[in-house]
Amino acid sequence: MRVIDLHTHSDRSDGTCSPEQVVREASARGTELLALADHDTMSGWNEARAAARRLGVPLCPAVEISTCFHDSLHILGYGVDPGNKQLALRLNDYRERRMTRVRKMVGLLKEAGLDISFDELRQREGSSLGRPHVADLLRKKGLAATRQEAFSRFLVPGKPGYVGPCGPCVEEAISAVRESGGLAVLAHPGVVMGVIDLPAWTAVGLGGLEVFYPVHSVSLMRRLMEAADKYGLVATGGTDYHGPGSDREARAGIEVPDEIFEKMKKIPGFAGMDHA
Ligand code: AMP
Ligand code: FE
Ligand code: FE
Ligand code: ZN
Repeated sequence: MRVIDLHTHSDRSDGTCSPEQVVREASARGTELLALADHDTMSGWNEARAAARRLGVPLCPAVEISTCFHDSLHILGYGVDPGNKQLALRLNDYRERRMTRVRKMVGLLKEAGLDISFDELRQREGSSLGRPHVADLLRKKGLAATRQEAFSRFLVPGKPGYVGPCGPCVEEAISAVRESGGLAVLAHPGVVMGVIDLPAWTAVGLGGLEVFYPVHSVSLMRRLMEAADKYGLVATGGTDYHGPGSDREARAGIEVPDEIFEKMKKIPGFAGMDHA
């Protein structure tokens, strides 16, 4: 078995660690292939790359795009060109839409009587806002004890602060990745099992499936491997690490069989690197 992690988040989106800290954590766990896949931003890439070079960790440029299809229907992009203008414009647009969504959520929560305001949310140039930031604000104000609690009381469908997803459709997310040279991968399929349409999405360029993921059971991973083979998809994996205090803090690094590892090394962004 080999340790890899193609799915981590930093504080450039909703993780709690800096990009450098994410790379350090992964490196300390012996991670041999790493990707920082922040939601709708690549602003952590330069910092992560510098740390990865220093620590000798193979790092692939990556992003995780949230679609409007379902709250958890996310498309990972690997080997996307961090300098691609078209991709940067699109991600910028998705982040602005996220901001509008969060603004609405805060408005709804205010109407529901909570003492919070949009201006209290931390905002850094190029980073993306999401429900976890609202959750952190609710925590700071003593209105929830954890992100998890803030979600279940306020931020999921049926609760007072919920607003539906605001991203692009699945097809657009896939083409955004492909047009910037990347491999488009369906993230955490086990979390969105009922809504997946592999025939339609592979037809428009989906190239991979995140088979290895912490909440996937062994039998589910077996079925996903079969689906990946059937549709010609690359099997990827990652922990969805979000750092301490995120309630999504399973430590970075996940084990995969050697033959899977060998195939992952061929993913654009890793392929051609001198780590082989
Ligand atoms: P958003 O992108 O604004 O829709 O927020 C979704 C993000 O919130 C996911 O990527 C996770 O990082 C995080 N998340 C979702 N559900 C929970 C939960 N129950 N507890 C903590 N974090 C969550
Ligand atoms: Fe997240
Ligand atoms: Fe995701
Ligand atoms: Zn993620």
